[in-house]
Amino acid sequence: MQDLGGKTVIIRTYEAAKQTNLFDEVYVVTDSDVIYKEIGSNGGKAIMSKKTHESGSDRIAEAVENMDVDIVVNVQGDEPFTSKKGLQQVLEVFKGEDADSIDLASLMTEIDDWKEISDPNCVKVITDKDDFALYFSRSPIPYPRDKNADVKYYKHKGIYAFRKEALMDFYHLPMRSLEAVEKIECIRYLEYGKRIKMAVTNTQGVEIDTPEDLVEANKLLKKEDKKSVNNKFRNFPMVPKVVFGSGCFDQLPEILAPQRQENAPFVFLVDDVFENNKALTDRIKLRFNDKLVFISAEEEPATAQIDQIVKEITSEFKKKPSGIIGVGGGTIMDIAKAVSIMLTNEGSAADYQGWDLVKNKAVYHVGVPTISGTGAEVSRTTVLSGPVRKLGINSDFTPFDQVILDPQLTEGVPKNQWFYTGMDCFIHCVESLNGTFLNAFSQSYGEKAYDLCKEIFITQVDTEEEARAKLMMASWHGGMSIAYSQVGVAHAMSYGLSYVLGTKHGIGNCIVFNHLEDFYPEDVVLFKEMVKNHDIEIPKGLCANLSDKEMNKMIDIALSLVPLWENALGDNWKAIMTREKLKSLYLKM
Ligand code: NAD
Ligand code: ZN
Repeated sequence: MQDLGGKTVIIRTYEAAKQTNLFDEVYVVTDSDVIYKEIGSNGGKAIMSKKTHESGSDRIAEAVENMDVDIVVNVQGDEPFTSKKGLQQVLEVFKGEDADSIDLASLMTEIDDWKEISDPNCVKVITDKDDFALYFSRSPIPYPRDKNADVKYYKHKGIYAFRKEALMDFYHLPMRSLEAVEKIECIRYLEYGKRIKMAVTNTQGVEIDTPEDLVEANKLLKKEDKKSVNNKFRNFPMVPKVVFGSGCFDQLPEILAPQRQENAPFVFLVDDVFENNKALTDRIKLRFNDKLVFISAEEEPATAQIDQIVKEITSEFKKKPSGIIGVGGGTIMDIAKAVSIMLTNEGSAADYQGWDLVKNKAVYHVGVPTISGTGAEVSRTTVLSGPVRKLGINSDFTPFDQVILDPQLTEGVPKNQWFYTGMDCFIHCVESLNGTFLNAFSQSYGEKAYDLCKEIFITQVDTEEEARAKLMMASWHGGMSIAYSQVGVAHAMSYGLSYVLGTKHGIGNCIVFNHLEDFYPEDVVLFKEMVKNHDIEIPKGLCANLSDKEMNKMIDIALSLVPLWENALGDNWKAIMTREKLKSLYLKM
């Protein structure tokens, strides 16, 4: 009944079990009136049992005695972090070839710390070659007489799936001496000749047995709420190869040559703004069956668009491409990254929107930015609009294998666009440097990029050529800065604009940032100075005629970006950024 992040432990456990969608029914079996009422008043199903049971299995056996069920899974009430994967594994064994010979199934996790192996509180299990349990013990089993032997130790995890008959047998058979001496329930099955199939899991749950456990669990819950984004030291990949300098794009063929595989083409995805620009396209030396596709950056990249491009490539070529080369702005960078991932991963790009969902290494991919600011050339994500959400494919396989930073390529960018995309970089720095996630790593990149932005957009002492080179580096550093922290208010709100109105990222950020003086006072003043200096028009009145439905959707999308708000406003962000506050801000825009 203890509180775990605003709900009782038992309700959390109950909901976690239900949410797996693995069961026809989920019940809480209890001998406590208080728990019985707690479940009932929260719309759950509870069954009262006798008080006299010696174990949880007995209690469950009583509950299912008159139920028509084949398999019963016992989830401990104090395991609110029970994962779907573990439960699925324990059920999966009943689908194997040897299913008929299995009476019950349970889980085990490999352990290698001798302290844990020799700890009597940790129950070890050994199995036969088919993973059937041979014995459970609080002693280290097997005993390591030969210190060089190749042996693994497994810890038993208290999740069981029983065939109903096995459970009923347990209920009716008396305890024998091995169970009694070790005080391990499942030994009773072995003593009566039952077969326990073990599955290996590596998910680490937290059982809540003590007040200290509860404190740990509350911490863990907070981290899970952050969707495992900011809960650990990040071990993130960087772009392994980068070439920089005016004219370095000419090196492309030389860079690609060693990556070419027999009969496997390079596919160039190029912004269609270059379609009639022979000066640029002539520098892409197409060989053999290489393919050049012009892609419009008119709209933000979408998962369906990625799926379509991948389909075209795979239907045209027997072999996977030697590489994908994206030439363009943030839009094309993201498309190139996503396509290279989807060439080696099944299903739709929408299946991989989120953190670390990509399974296989992407096809070799190269980014050649032709406009600076987004940091997409260096980042670990590719932002896509999907059927239900706008979210990146954020994975270790997303970053480019090679980036070519040639400031000359950004020469033809129209002024407004140069400004909007450049401000994306400025805003990345502001949000990273003012965020609660800030650390020395992010700060070092963020400060450099911030200073470069000021030189480019305020003091303007450079020649155009120097300014282009600086903005290219600012974009890179800004991207690196958010890699180890997070963006903030402007990005969260800009995602809302983009989802509902299709507003593009750079301009959307500008529209929003213009009104964020409550959050970034000094930087909004600077921003306004930049807008004035460069005579830029920031659109107004976008949200004036939104329907309630559209406004609510916009607010929902913005609020769903939890890590961004946590970075911007801290743990207490919900009290600061209410729906009303968001609405009043959007209405100003
Ligand atoms: P963009 O790629 O949409 O390009 C903007 C416009 O500039 C387009 O019309 C394009 O054709 C044109 N353009 C590009 N290069 C040009 C050139 N050299 N000469 C003339 N015109 C040129 O704009 P962007 O601001 O670079 O990218 C925005 C996209 O980046 C958004 O989809 C956003 O979601 C994404 N983004 C991704 C990340 C990431 O980390 N993956 C970060 C920020 C933004
Ligand atoms: Zn951005």
